[in-house]
Amino acid sequence: MTITGFTGAGLDRADHVRLDAERLADMMANGDARLLRLAELDPVLDEEGRLAWDPLGGAGGETLFLGLDEGVPLFAPLVRMQAFGQRAWSVFRLLSMMSGKDAAIWGAARSVNEWHNRHGYCGICGTATEIFRAGWGRKCPNCGAEHFPRVDPVVIMLAEHEGRVLLGRQPQYPQGRYSALAGFVEPGESIEEAVARELMEEAGIAVSDVRYVASQPWPFPGSLMIACIASAESDALNLDSEELEDAFWASRGEVEAALAGDPAAPFQAPPPFAIANTLLTRWSAGG
Ligand SMILES: [Zn+2]
Repeated sequence: MTITGFTGAGLDRADHVRLDAERLADMMANGDARLLRLAELDPVLDEEGRLAWDPLGGAGGETLFLGLDEGVPLFAPLVRMQAFGQRAWSVFRLLSMMSGKDAAIWGAARSVNEWHNRHGYCGICGTATEIFRAGWGRKCPNCGAEHFPRVDPVVIMLAEHEGRVLLGRQPQYPQGRYSALAGFVEPGESIEEAVARELMEEAGIAVSDVRYVASQPWPFPGSLMIACIASAESDALNLDSEELEDAFWASRGEVEAALAGDPAAPFQAPPPFAIANTLLTRWSAGG
């Protein structure tokens, strides 16, 4: 079974500690406690390609309690971001070198950090909010509202038709890259309905029999990718050129060649840490 990217951190998130000021102070005073090193929000790797950590002791500033790694308290700094909304292509090179566990730990730190940066003010009364729950929330000192890091569900799916699957390409993708189609789940929709709507909107494809395959957090900034396969009624495409630059139906052999990195493959597969890669791998294995 393929492990999906950004999962498998293996930390005890120790939720019961987050609101317990005394136990949290004990964690922070623990000589083994470590603070994740970040370059703004990007990961910093040591010589062995692992996440770099510093002793927490004496570190100033606000922190996020990530959890316990075999009893060792792990924290991440809460940093002020300089820019929003940038697709982090530069960080993908680092991610391709990182272990799944490290990517998962860093991904959580990145998502929560960006959420803090985007939620400095209360959405109800507009007052500046304050951190609480050891970094896992913000509270309004004026109206008392509590705000929690949000997770945005996104469906990502393969439409399947007679042994081939639909792949699309967005203009900003690296050269040759094709991937599964994806879109945000909207209020009032089930996962199945979102899959069917996105495939109709982006490619003019009607589908039935939507099957869930796997999920992964995607920390740009805070999505939960929900991977599915659906059965297409026909292979006639009607592309939305705003969303997709191109799309085509790939055979099992073509998908296998792309996943294997074969230079003769008709497209370049998404990287292993992206769930589209997991989805293609499972489909090509007959899952
Ligand atoms: Zn408020």
